[in-house]
Amino acid sequence: MSEAAVIGRLAPSPTGAQHIGNARTYLIAWLSARRRGGRVVLRIEDIDSPRVKAGSDRQACEDLRWLGLDWDEGPIVQTERLPIHRAALDRLQERERVYPCTCSRADVERAASAPHAEHEGPVYPGTCARRDVRAAETLGEQSYCWRFRMPRQTPAFVDGFRGPTHLDLRAVGGDFVVWKASRSGIAPSTPAYQLAVVVDDAAQSVTEVVRGDDLVPSTPRQLLLYEALGLTPPTFVHVPLVVGPDGRRLAKRHGDTRLSSLRVVGVRPETLLGLLAWSCGWLPSIEPIAARQLVPLFRLETIPRTPFVLTPELLRSIGYAA
Ligand SMILES: [Zn+2]
Repeated sequence: MSEAAVIGRLAPSPTGAQHIGNARTYLIAWLSARRRGGRVVLRIEDIDSPRVKAGSDRQACEDLRWLGLDWDEGPIVQTERLPIHRAALDRLQERERVYPCTCSRADVERAASAPHAEHEGPVYPGTCARRDVRAAETLGEQSYCWRFRMPRQTPAFVDGFRGPTHLDLRAVGGDFVVWKASRSGIAPSTPAYQLAVVVDDAAQSVTEVVRGDDLVPSTPRQLLLYEALGLTPPTFVHVPLVVGPDGRRLAKRHGDTRLSSLRVVGVRPETLLGLLAWSCGWLPSIEPIAARQLVPLFRLETIPRTPFVLTPELLRSIGYAA
């Protein structure tokens, strides 16, 4: 097997500043590709337009450069690829894998009686599932999205970090949105995250997707899209997130862990990388190290199975008070 064929990717979303949690996942993704002589693609995932903050795409590139993580291709900007995403929707429509859904978020919330996972929202109750593609022509001025029709069985997969993984339909959220409705006739309709990611990863020949394990429920959906579009899926590697002392994922409540803030007060990237490398089991103690020096030390197997708890004490150990 040719190891040089590995293509990994860094895919920051410019919806806010990159923080220490993002940095750890990027570092793992970058090292996993570089360790095997692989290439790295940088893609800016800016399709979530209402939440995208001006200038944060540039900021994300700066943060990655500061960390010493480079790339061979990109930045590829997702919103510049809308015609390609649109063509994928056309293919799904031709194959009757999607249907138009007129439910509002509130409709779905009301119809779904069961409690739901924090990030996935309620399971779609199938209100519009009897429609076929052509039914869209009868909807007139009504706003609608396109949903992917889930099979009864969600696909299992072998995660590069977690091993064999299978989530049931409920955990995955049922029929999911691949194309969002236009907002009050002003904003144009746009692809949903799941479709854009699959189309872009395939177009950029990505062979390995390393990302936070909050995205595990996305993977069965994305595998179905690969299958429906006749594309070859990459290997998925989901790594534990960084959490605060309260066990919740790193956020503002845990203080300011933005990379730009560390930079401003003079924390060296090598110092942060030392902390992250130690947290992944690549260094026996926290000591400064450059990203390139970590390439030969990288092992996926040494990364703990549990989230990395970032405490104020650990931050102080690298000379930073959040
Ligand atoms: Zn509906």
